[in-house]
Amino acid sequence: LIQLYIPLNFMGMLYREIKQALIDIDDMFSILARHPEVSDKPGAKPLVVTEGTVRFENVRFSYVPEREILKGITFEVPAGRTVAIVGPSGAGKSTISRLLFRFYEPSSGRILIDGQDIADVQQASLREKIGMVPQDTVLFNDTIGYNIRYGRWEASEEEVAEAARLAQIDTFIRSLPEGYDTPVGERGLKLSGGEKQRVAIARTILKGPPILVLDEATSALDSFTEKEIQDALDRVSRGRTTLVIAHRLSTVVGADEIIVLDKGVIAERGTHEELLAAGGIYAAMWNRQREADEAREKLKRAAEEE
Ligand code: ADP
Ligand code: MG
Repeated sequence: LIQLYIPLNFMGMLYREIKQALIDIDDMFSILARHPEVSDKPGAKPLVVTEGTVRFENVRFSYVPEREILKGITFEVPAGRTVAIVGPSGAGKSTISRLLFRFYEPSSGRILIDGQDIADVQQASLREKIGMVPQDTVLFNDTIGYNIRYGRWEASEEEVAEAARLAQIDTFIRSLPEGYDTPVGERGLKLSGGEKQRVAIARTILKGPPILVLDEATSALDSFTEKEIQDALDRVSRGRTTLVIAHRLSTVVGADEIIVLDKGVIAERGTHEELLAAGGIYAAMWNRQREADEAREKLKRAAEEE
């Protein structure tokens, strides 16, 4: 893959797409091991998570030299707290999660977990401590049970079922003719976006990492599914350091801090109430989304009356 990247622009684009899809797979050790910029430093020690505080310190980053994506980002997610990142598409939100996974390295600045620079620790230990619920979950061509157990191989059947219950996917799985042994993925049963996301949530619950990164789905899930997923996400993030990249503002209302990213800088930050009172970008986004929701409701009611 690395070799394809350099000479051909088209292949480069393809490579980027594959790479982006791959980061959506929770653990990517083998792929990452082949990625030169993210190899372990000689003598790298395992990451030791005591509290689970995540800190970005003046982080700058560009994928290509002529275009800086993050222009000096500083924020902290205190242990056990939730920080939400919102902002327009292309603002650099997902890039922040890729850097935390150390899929790329900042061009300057540092990312610290409990005071340890993630550039100095063993990759494997870093990824062990971070659970990722991605925007688009890629399932393995295997059974649905396998796809959940991937979070922790040695989990018992009861633990897998418990995680599935918490992620609100257990009832669905039991309704399948082969239950947990039902093949899914390309060659098996096709799951909906919401179902796949709940499988990813179950996997993450089973893994039980101290740090969580949630990249919410952009696709319009129906409001019932959305509520179910929100409940499941709330459950998994309780007591864990959580960085949530939010598209639906309704899901960030309770965050300890909301960061509004715009053109590579933090344009606004504060709680939901503070940002509404400030009447800036966030307030405008909030009002726009509320109006859209209301319009959608009205259409639905009109359709029902006919
Ligand atoms: P967001 O998640 O806020 O929508 P991203 O962090 O995914 O935005 O991307 C930020 C910017 O970086 C976008 O303009 C995007 O086109 C660009 N970008 C993302 N990935 C790559 C890549 N692998 N190579 C070059 N540019 C990229
Ligand atoms: Mg994104």
